[in-house]
Amino acid sequence: MCLRPAAADTGIVFHRTDLDPIVVDGVVDGVVDGTVDRGGLPAARSGIDTLVPARWDTVSDTVMSTTICNDAGVKVATIEHLMAALAGCGIDNVVVELAGPEVPIMDGSSAPFVFLIECAGLEMQQAPRRSVRVLRRVEIDEGDRRAVLLPSDGFSVSLEIEFDSAAIVEKSGFFDLHNGGFKRDICRARTFGFEREVSRLMDLGLAQGGSLDNAVVVGRDDEIMNEGGLRYCDEFVRHKVLDCVGDFYLVGGPMLTHFAGQRTGHASNNRLLRKLFSDPANWEYSHEVPQPSTEPMEHMEIWDRPSKMSGVIAGKIPGKIAATA
Ligand SMILES: [Zn+2]
Repeated sequence: MCLRPAAADTGIVFHRTDLDPIVVDGVVDGVVDGTVDRGGLPAARSGIDTLVPARWDTVSDTVMSTTICNDAGVKVATIEHLMAALAGCGIDNVVVELAGPEVPIMDGSSAPFVFLIECAGLEMQQAPRRSVRVLRRVEIDEGDRRAVLLPSDGFSVSLEIEFDSAAIVEKSGFFDLHNGGFKRDICRARTFGFEREVSRLMDLGLAQGGSLDNAVVVGRDDEIMNEGGLRYCDEFVRHKVLDCVGDFYLVGGPMLTHFAGQRTGHASNNRLLRKLFSDPANWEYSHEVPQPSTEPMEHMEIWDRPSKMSGVIAGKIPGKIAATA
């Protein structure tokens, strides 16, 4: 994978370099190489469209990870940890060259991407930065799984997770992603799995490259199998927040919202974005600079009925947890 600079308003576009690109009259087409002036003549075309824009409406699959797909059926899988790094670093325009169908998993977090992006450096472009401001409550409620976007002048996330394991002690948290919050509190949190699930996934042809080098693995006796243990005491919640940051960056820029979720994942994140954009009264573009978010409201001000999650008391959202790693 290689990240290349892109012009203002390009957005985030993946380029599958392992496939034959569209060639028009001998010239490669696409945003990377510019458009082709055909002088009114019918063009001789070959190849397929190898460019896949990273947008909420190109998401084609949300099982295990977030996959995007263009009109030609060209896919890129597991984009969310890279998308989170791009969000956290404030990158609006980039072409991501990828010689295969899936973004490298690295250590299962966004930290290696953030490190390399910071080594390369960023350049300010001559175009105003554009956020998506949520104007009113947008919610999906699927019983024990629900998610809501609320108006805010910043971007913050409060999540509650539920897994049947004694290893997962901290099950909720509030995080302000404003002004370095992602890099400071979230980007090192790794994806995770359970030893009891690994053999099932491998039978399905998934997680073939899965190892203790790219995920936290919880053993059959609820022990953390990785040498060195967890990077944060609540690494599981933080990784779910990381996934949200990546999935929500598919709106094409920062969001001005408070997101609250219970047992949410890639599928519900995308359903929520589709609901947001289904009604123009739900949102608007904004050029205002995001502000710090204060701890949100009482639990019952977020949700209009008590939780169906076990063990969660309908009360105040637990306080912000200090970084421990
Ligand atoms: Zn993840």
